[in-house]
Amino acid sequence: MEMENNVSSIWNKCLDFIKDNVPESSFRTWFTPIVPLKIDGNILKIQVPSAYFYEYLEANYVGLLRSALQKNLGFQAKLVYSIVVDAGRAAAKRPVPFQQQGYTVPGKIISQPDNKAAASQHLQPNLPYNPYTFPGLKMPKIDPQLNSNYTLDNFVVGKCNQLGRSAAESIAKKPGKTPYNPFMIFGNSGLGKTHLAQAIGNSVKEMYPEKLVLYVEANKFQTQYSDACRNNTRNDFIHFYQMLDLLIIDDVQEFAGKVGTQDTFFAIFNSLHQSGKQIILTCDTMPSELKGLNDRLLSRFRWGLTAEVSAPDFQTRLNILKKKVYNDGMEIPDDILEYIAHTVVSNVRELEGTLISLLAASTFTRCDLTLETAQNLLGKIVRESDPEYSVDFIVRTVCGHFGIKESVLSSKSRAKDIASARQLSMYFSKQFTGLPYKTIGEKIGGRDHSTVLHACKAVAKAVETDPKFKETVLFLEEKIKEGEKN
Ligand code: ADP
Ligand code: MG
Repeated sequence: MEMENNVSSIWNKCLDFIKDNVPESSFRTWFTPIVPLKIDGNILKIQVPSAYFYEYLEANYVGLLRSALQKNLGFQAKLVYSIVVDAGRAAAKRPVPFQQQGYTVPGKIISQPDNKAAASQHLQPNLPYNPYTFPGLKMPKIDPQLNSNYTLDNFVVGKCNQLGRSAAESIAKKPGKTPYNPFMIFGNSGLGKTHLAQAIGNSVKEMYPEKLVLYVEANKFQTQYSDACRNNTRNDFIHFYQMLDLLIIDDVQEFAGKVGTQDTFFAIFNSLHQSGKQIILTCDTMPSELKGLNDRLLSRFRWGLTAEVSAPDFQTRLNILKKKVYNDGMEIPDDILEYIAHTVVSNVRELEGTLISLLAASTFTRCDLTLETAQNLLGKIVRESDPEYSVDFIVRTVCGHFGIKESVLSSKSRAKDIASARQLSMYFSKQFTGLPYKTIGEKIGGRDHSTVLHACKAVAKAVETDPKFKETVLFLEEKIKEGEKN
């Protein structure tokens, strides 16, 4: 009892001081709801009704709180928050702990979380389920959960991602006000979907800091939803999401088969869309081929723009490497970067991974990075993880298909099969290795660069006009891909 009195009397003194320093309405809104819990030495623990509440105090009144505390508890005063969402609006009277508790005020008042786990959980807020909004006051702040490295500037444009990238730019300027709503980015893993989606978020945040932006992985959304159902806070969950100005949901294919989550997302989607708020989705499958997703949801996805990101061509791969090297302040000779871009063909994540492994390996062995050491090191790194498409292998596969000897490609023969095999070998070599025309020509029959260029064009044209030939090309393409992986 005595302790309790002690807490309230100290807190009341703090309030007196605060009252003198803020407008009355703010005082009523932000300080009267605070419940002082206990005093432990120079640590005061207070209870606040929501994560927003705490964040708002943090952002706006941390200095004032500090002064008030120091006046009454001395210079070593510390403040600990406990965030307890009152579920009184729901049937339950029992307070539902929003996030266990523990929080910290930065600045001179040093954090004293009750336990570390709780504190770090708070710093990475999962989701404020219960958004307290106060009419007439600034909107609450939320952590958009964005990685600041993913910017539009850092995103290299190529044929593989042109549409997505230019749409992203328009959306970033006017979120919700372009025809690209929702904006759906789809493509295989490691091709930049997450990067592009987050880049829009970062750009919006930069241009419109007051806008509420949230990035969330579909899986996480799903977990939050289940938690909300269990805690009887489904409405708060929906309400929270409906307040956003920009919602980014990554990997929506994860919603497949989750009926409740889809229904809830559908409601959120409609509400955001109707009020002109921007929705961005990513997906690793072509939306029309998504199994286990409700049709009405799929049809919504088609309202806006669907942009595919595909595997980058050689030049784009090289540009990505150059950008990365430049951004990281490294210096690596161009021939090595070109070598990497030739070697790792299918996936940007692996492209970056290879670069990093190469740097690590060269540091480790303390050798100077020359093309030769890079080739040695990479031979080891790449072969394990990624198919290395070689001209030799392609020639072998193509000749095997036509039942001809590889050596006849070097002959002058214009026999139909031989000429086809020669052209197809050149075409696939360009497609899979990205080597210069000149190098391919040297490797295939000692031809010059213009012959290879001509072959590539001829094959591309024949694919469009001759269905039978197209079938052969697709068949061989699969065979090359398969063969190199084994
Ligand atoms: P996804 O989400 O499609 O699996 P990510 O967005 O995670 O792929 O991309 C994988 C990695 O490749 C990230 O580090 C990303 O920054 C990088 N990346 C992908 N595309 C590009 C690009 N066009 N320019 C620069 N970096 C890229
Ligand atoms: Mg991703």
